[in-house]
Amino acid sequence: MSTDRRDDPPDAFHPDTLAVGFGYDPQSASGAVKPPVMLTSTFAYPSAAAAKQAHRDYFDGAGPGRDAAFIYARLDHPNLALLEKRFAALEGAEDAAAFASGMAAISAILLAHLKPGDSVLHTRPLYGGTHGLLHGPIAGIGVTPVAIGDALDPASVAEAAEAASRHGPVALIFVETPANPTNGIADIALIARTADTLAERQGGRRPLLVVDNTFLGSLLQAPLAHGADLAMTSLTKYAGGHSDLIGGAVSGGRAMIGPLRRLRTLLGSHLDPFTSWLALRSLETFPLRNRRANANAAIVASFLRDHPKVASVSYLGFLEAGTPARAVFVRQCSGAGSTFSFRIRGGEAEAFAMLDRLQVFRMAVSLGGTESLICHSATTTHYSVPPEIRREVGVDDATLRISIGIEHPDDLVADLASALDALP
Ligand SMILES: *Cc1c(COP(=O)(O)O)cnc(C)c1O
Repeated sequence: MSTDRRDDPPDAFHPDTLAVGFGYDPQSASGAVKPPVMLTSTFAYPSAAAAKQAHRDYFDGAGPGRDAAFIYARLDHPNLALLEKRFAALEGAEDAAAFASGMAAISAILLAHLKPGDSVLHTRPLYGGTHGLLHGPIAGIGVTPVAIGDALDPASVAEAAEAASRHGPVALIFVETPANPTNGIADIALIARTADTLAERQGGRRPLLVVDNTFLGSLLQAPLAHGADLAMTSLTKYAGGHSDLIGGAVSGGRAMIGPLRRLRTLLGSHLDPFTSWLALRSLETFPLRNRRANANAAIVASFLRDHPKVASVSYLGFLEAGTPARAVFVRQCSGAGSTFSFRIRGGEAEAFAMLDRLQVFRMAVSLGGTESLICHSATTTHYSVPPEIRREVGVDDATLRISIGIEHPDDLVADLASALDALP
């Protein structure tokens, strides 16, 4: 199988259409309507001269492009190339690289762009893995992470940039928006302007602006269109969508993605052929699943907001008109997504009693699958976060995070209703 690498302008098609067939030519695989999975670790060269040329292209270019010949599966392989091509089309990006996990993607970005003495600006709260990586091994090589207090407020962003600059040049800005599980919003365009200002002060060295787009996903937020240099997403969540694979992807300009692909080869964190094939299969229904989950979430969120045993719901669709968060949400996102948190009246005892009565919702971490999931944040996803920081980021003993799936909304509401109504 060779993937069809024609660079048709994908904007001629809707995401639903790109998701189903973009980048694959059946004639490249005996007419198979679906791409085969190519389980091979290495690729035979057609001639000695072609072997030399393949290595020259890979190692002497600006960075391996999507059109390089296949050499060895850790460098690139057909299922990976096809997934990357289709994912880039869905993201409206020039190029994309897929990794063994979302964290592998983040690791490659940080290792490619940070060196001892640099500082990093980041939004807060961060996904636990990202926080651990930045404040553990990355801080350990002499890079200083500095948090932005309020990523909607120009003065707060400028103040954090100032503080970070005192530790060394700001090499990278890591933005997670909306944040997990608070649904706090960061203004990507505002932070991109801050990167411009920093570039002037740093003799032209502009910090790389990276957005973790996992929480809403590619179909509801396009960070690259708002000034991000790289958009990363955990394919494990909405794009994979069936809670049966782990993967990650980064999209952006070709000049940015090539070096990440080369570093991925050194780290050994490519996505394997079968998982790439599975992820591509998942992309076909991504728009369909997303629409259904978003519609379900709006119904469930409204039900919870009106329930007497529920104290608050942090659903993006409920952001108050006239607030900065609402203004940025409207400009930056095209939907409220299907993962949010809510607080029930009471504390851990009431939360646990409710959880143990649910029958349709599965109690598990993660999000973005076909099935609805729920978990008690303080004792699961945020278990290792100190209580004072938990409070700061809006997680207390009454906080439950839910990810709404594609089941019938009436069954989801009935399940929550019977569990909540049984509370004293
Ligand atoms: C899950 C997640 C990640 C990490 O992705 P993995 O595929 O689990 O490595 C990163 N950021 C966010 C916001 C996530 O939810």
